[in-house]
Amino acid sequence: MPEGPSIILVKEAVAQFKGKEIIMVSGNSKIDQSRLLNQKVTDFKSWGKHFLICFNGFTLRVHFLMFGSYSINEKKPDRPIRLNLTFENGEINLYSCSIKYLEGDINTHYDWSTDVMNDQWDKKKAKVKLKALPNKLICDALLEQDIFAGVGNIIKNEILYRVRVHPESVIKNMPTTKINTLIDESRIYSFQFLEWKRNFELKKHWLAHTKKICLRCNMPIIRKQTGIKNRRSFICTNCQILYR
Ligand SMILES: [Zn+2]
Repeated sequence: MPEGPSIILVKEAVAQFKGKEIIMVSGNSKIDQSRLLNQKVTDFKSWGKHFLICFNGFTLRVHFLMFGSYSINEKKPDRPIRLNLTFENGEINLYSCSIKYLEGDINTHYDWSTDVMNDQWDKKKAKVKLKALPNKLICDALLEQDIFAGVGNIIKNEILYRVRVHPESVIKNMPTTKINTLIDESRIYSFQFLEWKRNFELKKHWLAHTKKICLRCNMPIIRKQTGIKNRRSFICTNCQILYR
């Protein structure tokens, strides 16, 4: 599933169509496609893992789910197109994603301050929300999109390793300084992820995700499904502290 930084890259890739009119629509999406014809894109936005195509009075919300993808100005062979938007200067193709209309002002649908990559990101708000979930495991909390919109499993694993916290730590037992660092790191790492992904070198920079040996301890990194969300974690039990 594409995480927040990958959606920023989608937004950059389609910037050429901002202000342009849709002259043709097709695809297997069940939405009312005729509504899009002759509409001008007023803006492209993102919120966490949601990619938003904004028009006058409504927005198309695209969620790439597990296997969704896109192509710009070309069609992927052998993949059914969920939605094609054709403009005078090119086309956007979306595959295997969920597409939905959101009515009215987009600002009424989203709280931008919960998106770790948004200029309006509010870390104090994230801290208040974490404190309100004292018994939750930190690995589950980091994946909550209404606290850390955009953070996915890779970002979760990398930042927990960086701040030396075991994914199964219970929030109420974590020192406040650790929580603060973790919240800061969710934004810092997301922007590093963006730059590395832009340069096709993301995996090279992974320290924990899919790794077998801890670089700090030279000891095995264990792989475990953790939390209620039961997602893959990569843990060095020597240097990542378990606040149980
Ligand atoms: Zn270690």
